Amino acid sequence: MNFHQYYPVDIVNGPGTRCTLFVSGCIHECPGCYNKSTWRVNSGQPFTTEMEQRIIDDLNDTRVKRQGISLSGGDPLHPQNVPEILRLVQRIRTECAGKDIWVWTGYKLDELNDAQREVVDLVNVLIDGKFVQDLKDPMLIWRGSSNQVVHHLR
Ligand code: SF4
Repeated sequence: MNFHQYYPVDIVNGPGTRCTLFVSGCIHECPGCYNKSTWRVNSGQPFTTEMEQRIIDDLNDTRVKRQGISLSGGDPLHPQNVPEILRLVQRIRTECAGKDIWVWTGYKLDELNDAQREVVDLVNVLIDGKFVQDLKDPMLIWRGSSNQVVHHLR
């Protein structure tokens, strides 16, 4: 998996103070996408084991208390990203007690395959669906267009 940006302290992409990771790779090609540069899976830089460990350490850092992590992109549930995203969310669940996990994906919850579902089973909130320009509404919170749904799963 590759990623574009990692923000160790972020107050914009989700509730509270968080870590945010923008991964590479998206097949949805939504017109008006705010993050076109992330579409290619080989764009950005490799997500290394050091990067994975840094996220775990940041979430456990008591000097700056984070509520959790936001995983966006690109699409964290792009099939090529799923194995590493799964390992990351499994580690957060076992090593970062009390932290929430929010995931943004262009897939719909009811069209996910088994591997993608394994990830979603471990997250707190999934915002699903493509961005639809005609349904764009700047008043919406945590989503860009009104077709997208904020699923509070746990
Ligand atoms: S799902 Fe998100 S990242 Fe992918 S094309 Fe649509 S708006 Fe862009």
